Amino acid sequence: MHELSIARAIATIVCDLVPPSDRPHIRNVTVDVGHVSGIVPDSLSFCFEALSAELSLPPHALVIRRVPFRCYCRPCATEFSNDSGIVLCPSCGSADTEVRSGRDLRVATIEIAESNQDRT
Ligand SMILES: [Zn+2]
Repeated sequence: MHELSIARAIATIVCDLVPPSDRPHIRNVTVDVGHVSGIVPDSLSFCFEALSAELSLPPHALVIRRVPFRCYCRPCATEFSNDSGIVLCPSCGSADTEVRSGRDLRVATIEIAESNQDRT
């Protein structure tokens, strides 16, 4: 399953960055998921949840932010968007375009509660 390997990659990043003693205090792991990245957010959450139990990460830590697809046309300087990730400019038909967002996934932030702080 595609999302499982992605969830595993995210978990690896988290475990590389956060020492084991701090892992139970993780509040959230925010990932930016591009609208046309092909990743299904619900599946990703589900897979990450399964791995969290295995890796002693707190439950429900994953926060997914959807990043809209944006593309820029060089010849006519139009910025456009659509739901399918099509890179042809709707104004002039050019394929000389540049994808600016919406295709990839990245771990944006990892928030950890201070251990002496009240956790809500
Ligand atoms: Zn154009």
